[in-house]
Amino acid sequence: MAQAVKELWPDVKVAIGPAIDNGFYYDFDKKDPFTPDDLKAIAKRMRQIIEKKPALTQRFVPKAEAIKLFQERNEPYKIELINEIPDEQVSIYQTGDSFVDLCKGPHVKNAGEIKAFALLSVAGAYWRGDEKNAMLQRIYGTCFPTEKELKEHLQLLEEAQKRDHRKLGPQLDLFNFYQDEAGAGLIFYHPNGAMVRKFIEDYIKDENLKRGYEPVVTPHILRGKLWEISGHAGYYKENMYYFHVDNEEYAVKPMNCPGHILIYKSRLRSYREMPVRLFELGTVYRQEKAGVLHGLLRVRGFTQDDGHIFCREDQIRDEVKNAIDFVFAVMKDFGFESSEIELSTQPAKFIGTQQNWDMATEALKDSLEDKKIPYAINPGDGAFYGPKIDIKLKDAIGRLWQCATIQCDFALPERFQMTYVDESGQEKRPIMIHRAILGSFERFFGMLVEHYAGAFPLWLAPVQVALIPIREAHIDYAKGVKEDLQAQGFRVIMDARNETLDKRIREASLKKIPYIAIIGDKEAGAKTVSMRKRGSGESGVVPVADLVEKLKVEISQKI
Ligand code: ZN
Repeated sequence: MAQAVKELWPDVKVAIGPAIDNGFYYDFDKKDPFTPDDLKAIAKRMRQIIEKKPALTQRFVPKAEAIKLFQERNEPYKIELINEIPDEQVSIYQTGDSFVDLCKGPHVKNAGEIKAFALLSVAGAYWRGDEKNAMLQRIYGTCFPTEKELKEHLQLLEEAQKRDHRKLGPQLDLFNFYQDEAGAGLIFYHPNGAMVRKFIEDYIKDENLKRGYEPVVTPHILRGKLWEISGHAGYYKENMYYFHVDNEEYAVKPMNCPGHILIYKSRLRSYREMPVRLFELGTVYRQEKAGVLHGLLRVRGFTQDDGHIFCREDQIRDEVKNAIDFVFAVMKDFGFESSEIELSTQPAKFIGTQQNWDMATEALKDSLEDKKIPYAINPGDGAFYGPKIDIKLKDAIGRLWQCATIQCDFALPERFQMTYVDESGQEKRPIMIHRAILGSFERFFGMLVEHYAGAFPLWLAPVQVALIPIREAHIDYAKGVKEDLQAQGFRVIMDARNETLDKRIREASLKKIPYIAIIGDKEAGAKTVSMRKRGSGESGVVPVADLVEKLKVEISQKI
């Protein structure tokens, strides 16, 4: 692609062009942005280059020589990159006899091996992501071994675009960002979104209680001293919001763990009452870099369904197994059919004893193996304080989303001098397990919007039934039905506007409301509604009582 661009616009300078997940991009220094027609021209030239099957050959040259080479070619970005490479020699790739680029490789042997590609989009990008630098023009593309695979990928991209929560959120009036007024990475739930969230919160609270967790609520701001003990002041400070009160340092919490530890430590704990399971829907704030913020997926303020288990060594296995069961039960209720699981093990830098690590890693492994759950090992990718299990859920169109995590921690119990008294009256350190099932509510919510394409199942839908009286004469009866349904806990709206029936039905469908109930002469006379179910084509005239039964069944089955 870079060669094609250089052939078409010899004055354009090439910057950097890596492979990324599902494709590649290249940044070009060009005054005017590339137009859609430019992309077509580039793709055409690429096909012409590929047809000639030029070889891609690598050679290593001394840095000085490489600098000279790119000076001759008037490529200042390449020279800047070369100057930062610590090695004596740099790797250069040449395509045929014309195009030369700085690249580590590897590449295909010749361009003829490139079978199916597509140029996807253009975006402005600052050189090295820094807004003080030049604005470059980035072209994104993708490439597959066969046309069939490319086509499938493009279809998936199209489907993903339709489901993009950043688009559906405002469209369905679920949430929005008010970046200019409020700041970046902060989300505002509108009534519809807050309604969905309320049902997720209720659900996850109940599920925690059923599994022996005790609810706690801890403050949003805590003394700086506490963050020193926890270690956050040492290794996490740049991500935290610090401020002063009465000459004393405070920080907004980036995690809920220290609060739960204080509650654990509020009294002497006996081995008999272990494990202690505390949970909180804890809102935390983290100073994420502006460049990584992304819709609901990366934000600066978010709420975790955060639980901490304090247990004895001999209880780790059962606790981890319970947490895994918890994740799978929740996954099923939200309609996720499969997942990928990773076990991350001891990193080079770690705290705690080797014995601790071996024991906890074995416990995590055994828990997965006992449950016959396939998993991959990420060697050395554990947190410095303990090994962990991460669970990625596969959504309706096959994309993976990191949600739940189960992490062993030997550091915080030590730092906070946590203890329990064992059978022989000795003080012992508990093991701490951090676990989140949904992870961050914001992220989970964004994922759900995309998973369901905005069409929430009945139990989560912000509005469950839209009542539409055909004419004014039917409004009174419709009102009665509305009040009846509301009294039974259903979320109902009535659209009695002076608009055509078709228009009102269409608007309710666009809002992805699960049930539309139309009321005319016949229905008002017979105490029925004419019901249409979203997406199923299912419809019919039913007594209101039957509709209620149907709704109840669907809600209880979470479908
Ligand atoms: Zn924690």
